[in-house]
Amino acid sequence: MKIQQISLINFRNYQNLNLQIDGLVNVFYGNNAQGKTNILESIFYSAFGMSHRTGNEDDLVKMSCREMAAEVTFNNLYGDHTLRVKRQNVCERMKKQISLDDNVIKSKEHYGTLNVVMFSPEDLQIVKGEPALRRRFLDMEIAQTNRYYYGLLVKYNRVLQQRNKFLKDARENVLDHAQLEVWNKEIANVAAEIITLRLKVLKKINSIAGAIYKEITNQKEELVVNYELKTNSSAIICSQEDSLECWREWYLARLRERQTLDVLRGSTGIGPHRDDLSITVNENNLRAFGSQGQQRSGALALKLAEMEYVKKEAGEYPVLLLDDVMSELDSERRKQILNFIDGRVQTFITVNDKNLIPELACNRYFCVSEGSICEG
Ligand code: ATP
Ligand code: MG
Repeated sequence: MKIQQISLINFRNYQNLNLQIDGLVNVFYGNNAQGKTNILESIFYSAFGMSHRTGNEDDLVKMSCREMAAEVTFNNLYGDHTLRVKRQNVCERMKKQISLDDNVIKSKEHYGTLNVVMFSPEDLQIVKGEPALRRRFLDMEIAQTNRYYYGLLVKYNRVLQQRNKFLKDARENVLDHAQLEVWNKEIANVAAEIITLRLKVLKKINSIAGAIYKEITNQKEELVVNYELKTNSSAIICSQEDSLECWREWYLARLRERQTLDVLRGSTGIGPHRDDLSITVNENNLRAFGSQGQQRSGALALKLAEMEYVKKEAGEYPVLLLDDVMSELDSERRKQILNFIDGRVQTFITVNDKNLIPELACNRYFCVSEGSICEG
């Protein structure tokens, strides 16, 4: 996939930007706080309808403005397309509207239209941070190339909220056992589908990320990513792919075992929303025992594996966004990553110092200063 144009209106510190892109490697350079990350964020936002660094979309609207729009024109295997995400004021409420080639579309049709992989300093948290961040990494990866999975996540969250509400009501009133069994079955059905797909995809990611990590570390270290399944007594490593029916039975049995506890707590204690990924290097947990450099390389390997996975599934490489990554890597790793993307993947890179990126014929350089961009 290749982006050809980016247009922004009142997005962060850009009032009105129209940027033509014809390069394979696009380097945005400049001092701090000029709008380099904002550009990558606008691409991410156009692709997914959310930001990679804030959950509050109002932050994206230029200060003292009320409405904004981000638009990206790109081509993929099937032709040229334009995605536009607008936030506008409708009857005193901010509403988001997404359109593809001027037709309004829903979020579930949006996801995976423009495939993008972002690697930013925040991604170190995939290794170091809370389980929710690792689940999000895996979920985004699967959903980018599988709309059905996106729908499953939406459905799971809805059923989970309904079951939790039911549990809270039951705690305060009387427990309707028959109705609880309906919720158990409902949630077990969706959970089984989610875990089946997660295990299948993780197996592929694990082998790609393992090979990439070996390359980064000159064959010295071995990275392994496993699924950590929460049971009623502990968390276990789970690599075995069972049938959908087996997983349904498994979840149903576990939910029944713990239903008294769930009623007491007013929430559902097991399920795909509680699982985690275990990431090890040479059999040691990377989160607890890895050095900063190992953790960074691990996160990078996972992101590059995401890129290869999307390529395998979608038939073409996604667009790669590298925010502030170059200055954090040593020159050897910098060279390796540039070799890796060489000539294959359209990439947007932000750096403070232009000289960190060797001048190549396919590179384009953009100087970013106070929300305006000049090529050269
Ligand atoms: P660094 O090199 O430090 O990472 P950067 O060039 O990537 O810097 P960005 O994060 O892209 O910087 O942009 C930061 C600038 O954008 C700041 O000046 C900030 O005040 C401004 N900014 C952020 N959000 C908004 C907004 N909603 N309205 C106007 N300006 C904003
Ligand atoms: Mg930045």
